[in-house]
Amino acid sequence: MTKHIIEPGWNLENTYTTLPSVFLSRITSNPVRAPKLVILNESLAESLGLNSDALKAEDGVQVLAGNQTVEGGVPLAQAYAGHQFGNFTMLGDGRALLHGEQITPQGERFDIQLKGSGRTPYSRGGDGRATLGPMLREYIISEAMFALGIPTTRSLAVVTTGEQVRRETDLPGAIMTRVAASHLRVGTFEYALKWGADDDLQALADYTIQRHFPDIEKDEHRYLSLLKEVIKRQAALIAKWQLVGFIHGVMNTDNMAISGETIDYGPCAFMNVYNPKTVFSSIDRQGRYAYGNQPPIGGWNLARFAETLVPLLDENPEEAVKIAQDEMVRYEELYRSNWLQGMRAKIGIVKEEEEDEALIVDLLRMMEEHDADYTNTFRALTFDHYQEEVFFETPDFTKWKERWRARLDIQQESKDATLELMKNSNPAVVPRNHQVEEALEAAVKSGDYSVMEQLLAVLKKPYAHTSEQEEYTSLPAKSDRYYQTFCGT
Ligand code: AMP
Ligand code: MG
Repeated sequence: MTKHIIEPGWNLENTYTTLPSVFLSRITSNPVRAPKLVILNESLAESLGLNSDALKAEDGVQVLAGNQTVEGGVPLAQAYAGHQFGNFTMLGDGRALLHGEQITPQGERFDIQLKGSGRTPYSRGGDGRATLGPMLREYIISEAMFALGIPTTRSLAVVTTGEQVRRETDLPGAIMTRVAASHLRVGTFEYALKWGADDDLQALADYTIQRHFPDIEKDEHRYLSLLKEVIKRQAALIAKWQLVGFIHGVMNTDNMAISGETIDYGPCAFMNVYNPKTVFSSIDRQGRYAYGNQPPIGGWNLARFAETLVPLLDENPEEAVKIAQDEMVRYEELYRSNWLQGMRAKIGIVKEEEEDEALIVDLLRMMEEHDADYTNTFRALTFDHYQEEVFFETPDFTKWKERWRARLDIQQESKDATLELMKNSNPAVVPRNHQVEEALEAAVKSGDYSVMEQLLAVLKKPYAHTSEQEEYTSLPAKSDRYYQTFCGT
């Protein structure tokens, strides 16, 4: 009998190698001992044109572990720099391997990158490895973000390596396969400006335009158009984070993707009680990346991006700086209008009125004052159903609710249309820290992936508002209030 071989469907190119050589290092793999697939994103695999059965088979797993290369792919690590908590430094993929770009059946192009795949020329003192908990955490949260309709990198698979990784204790090693529109970052441009020749910066900008913004290729001032487009995408992205209460946790410039996708899920988390000062990351002692600081930090990062483009914006440096500064003002306006529009939708308002902002700001102020849960408050407003929360029983809230009702009464939309808008704008569930921790504990300590699978299933349709989701809307015990996240190591 002949053995039936299923093709995995890899269709890789690697255009990154067309960039000047300063931007990358070709690498050979650092094989791991006993790779085992622990989770595979079958629907993502399918949309990429990959066959899940083939990925689960021996050869498939070897590729997901970095033990084998794929025809058409050129394994490489990308060079980049970045401002980490404000300080500029050389970085690069210290524990990642880019297999190549998968061309999907629809003709789209996605980076297939392994995280935790071993040392590279950019590893500095690190071991190039990753541990299971943080890789599963990125898997859960990035998939939840995707389901929430927020641009993000995605997770195709996690394999354990059969090796222990030394951290504070020995932990199981793992490798995650990340799928991204690209891994170009603000930090890639900072690297080009600092360590590349003038031509290198221009080559990077042209490559970026071709890959992400082909519509502006023929623009008279295409580098200004590039700046505008990147600003536009980040303004939209960060507004979306704010609207669902997502805290990235480590918004360094190397973790800001030019494509406008959320990238690098390290110490990120969703906020429970509404408070703009919320920080979860144990290393963010100053609150630089607190929830309420994300929009201005986005602006700060984009200003670093704009600076890198100065040599390309105008022959006259002073003129170039002025052009860049004008665009930074646009960022603030764009962010604000994205946020306001999203907030209006969250409280069921369709057409804008001047007074809407005050209505929204007053609600948030009260939520902060009364320690109201962010997600559940908007859920309660959506269904006009208020559980026994102290906040809903305050005179403040009762008065606000009357004002809000009066505002809704003057709009033309039917009650059903308003309900639909609110249901689609307010998730029933977000990956709350205590639930994510429970899922990770079962998986990492007991090899039981069922808790994680169930959580993923519930998070897949956050706007469905089904009865199965009810259980996942419960808040953490008070003792979990001071939850901290640690960098994804
Ligand atoms: P991140 O906090 O994941 O954005 O990583 C910041 C930088 O540190 C990047 O250049 C990573 O590649 C690098 N890095 C993080 N962990 C390791 C590790 N275990 N070994 C080598 N490099 C690492
Ligand atoms: Mg990073």
